[in-house]
Amino acid sequence: IPVENIRNFSIIAHVDHGKSTLADRLLEMAGAIDKNCGRSQVLDKLQVERERGITVKAQSASLIYNVDGTDYMLNLIDTPGHVDFSNEVSRSLSACQGVILLVDANQGVQAQTVANFYMAFTKELVIIPVLNKIDLKNANPEAITDQLKNIFGIEENEVLKISAKLGTGVDAVLRAIVERIPPPPVNRDKPFRALLFDSWYDRYRGAVSLLYVVDGKVQMGDMISSALSGKLYEVKGLGILTPQETPVECLVAGQVGFMFCNMRSSQEAHIGDTIFHEGNPVAILPEFKASQPMVFAGVYPVDQSHHVELRNAIERLVLNDSAVTSSVESSPALGLGWRLGFLGILHLEVFSQRLLQEFNAEVVVTAPSVTYKATVIGEKNIKKYRSSEISFSNPSQFPDPQIVSEYFEPFVLGTIISPDKYLGPIMQLCMDRRGIQKSMQNIDNHTVMMQFILPLNEIVIDFHDTLKSVSSGYASFDYEEYGYFESKLVKLVILLNGIPVDELSAVVHSSKASIVGHKICAKLKELIPRQMVLIAIQAAVGGKIVARETLKPYRKDVTAKLYGGDVTRRKKLLKQQAEGKKKMRMLANINVPKDIFIDVLKRN
Ligand code: GDP
Ligand code: MG
Repeated sequence: IPVENIRNFSIIAHVDHGKSTLADRLLEMAGAIDKNCGRSQVLDKLQVERERGITVKAQSASLIYNVDGTDYMLNLIDTPGHVDFSNEVSRSLSACQGVILLVDANQGVQAQTVANFYMAFTKELVIIPVLNKIDLKNANPEAITDQLKNIFGIEENEVLKISAKLGTGVDAVLRAIVERIPPPPVNRDKPFRALLFDSWYDRYRGAVSLLYVVDGKVQMGDMISSALSGKLYEVKGLGILTPQETPVECLVAGQVGFMFCNMRSSQEAHIGDTIFHEGNPVAILPEFKASQPMVFAGVYPVDQSHHVELRNAIERLVLNDSAVTSSVESSPALGLGWRLGFLGILHLEVFSQRLLQEFNAEVVVTAPSVTYKATVIGEKNIKKYRSSEISFSNPSQFPDPQIVSEYFEPFVLGTIISPDKYLGPIMQLCMDRRGIQKSMQNIDNHTVMMQFILPLNEIVIDFHDTLKSVSSGYASFDYEEYGYFESKLVKLVILLNGIPVDELSAVVHSSKASIVGHKICAKLKELIPRQMVLIAIQAAVGGKIVARETLKPYRKDVTAKLYGGDVTRRKKLLKQQAEGKKKMRMLANINVPKDIFIDVLKRN
């Protein structure tokens, strides 16, 4: 297929606006998949994606579409729709010349629509605005067209109106892709050069990479090199995704396809890397902005004897998801584990769910935290930390206030779009979370777009859920980094019978210490089973108790109801109880169920 007949594009949309449905329809219309195969949403490969209905990993599909007698190869690069995964969106767009900006004609422009639009806009991609779900009786394509004009300056005549579900207007979308999006600006006569923009792990083939071939071509058996590592590999497999893997002999400039070449470890298939022929160095393609983990949590095996299995599982998942960072950590209560960094709380949840589903790994996840900074004073202390500015994401590393002149915490710029009747409760929520309003704009007669500067630690846990509940599900939210600012931070220590439990401590703003302390103590009282001794649950800041709860003693004898005779039944009950104990952890001589850690700091 000549370069002039190739189109590389993505669909970008707010969650649930119909991206997967449209992708399926495009594949069907172009004859790529069987209409009757019965599997919906073929691009969402991961089990967790099907369950949650969100796309986590970007996938791709090549389809052939005939317009007026000419065959075009359309490479659809799928992108995740959720706020946490914007780096994957940005990365996928690096292989595209255009995007379909898909907007639900009933819901209208949402926070991620805005974020996605600007991502495509700054990359100077052709944007095809498409209103979906026009079959719904509440659909209001005229009003939503107005929104597109007000916010993005999109002209009415550019807007396509479709029903991805019924297939209405989808043909016009395919035509627009061919007519409006330019072919990839590539050169087949130059030496081979490709962008590695995604990768996943395969047990038998090692790392499989998705390549966008920018110049020349690559063939089976070629010797290739990585610009970042300088390592050499022999190409063992090439193919395109239709979306099933279809082997090919070579990939030529303009194409998107997969490659494997005995890359064994997670570091080798570096996303953003430039791949070229051995001994034929080329100019390196612009690297992506490295994704910054924003939320950190400790991850531990429920049972320490599974440490090695868990390490393997984590390594594999990290290979699939370069946005996750990991380092080894140990905790007195939980043993040996890892501190993992994630893009957001959903990212963390998806990761732990995948550990369970794909590797059957049972883990304890500690309460999530963000990365704070502090300025250390005193020559001795600066020497000890090797710098006057230190960072920490684990509350147990909170530096002593005696040696710190200032603490800093990360802020984000949040965008909220909502019907204006929920304005009051939304403003209240943002104020409660220490937010500062930056702007407010009407995007139509009854919809507002607001921007707030918010501390990241106030939104990592349940901001999104609360926002949804105060707006009956109508408000949408997205955020971007806004930098570090000085803040009055304190370490809130949780004590069980007077003994501090570091795993349960938290970094909070001083104005929140007492409120958060009360909530944690109340929650712990609810979650810790009563034991043989009385338990004092306390929260303290700098030695001062700010909250307290008491858990009364109680003895549970599982065999009490049995009268002598039935030995096997008795043994079985005792065994069950012993298994229950494995999931408990001794903290300050108190049995604490392992899975409470993440529950504890949730606010509600
Ligand atoms: P995604 O999150 O953007 O991938 O959205 P999905 O493709 O998963 O669609 C979300 C929901 O909207 C699903 O229940 C779809 O069946 C539904 N949907 C998608 N397109 C249409 C449409 O054109 N009309 C109607 N009525 N529903 C649609
Ligand atoms: Mg989807």
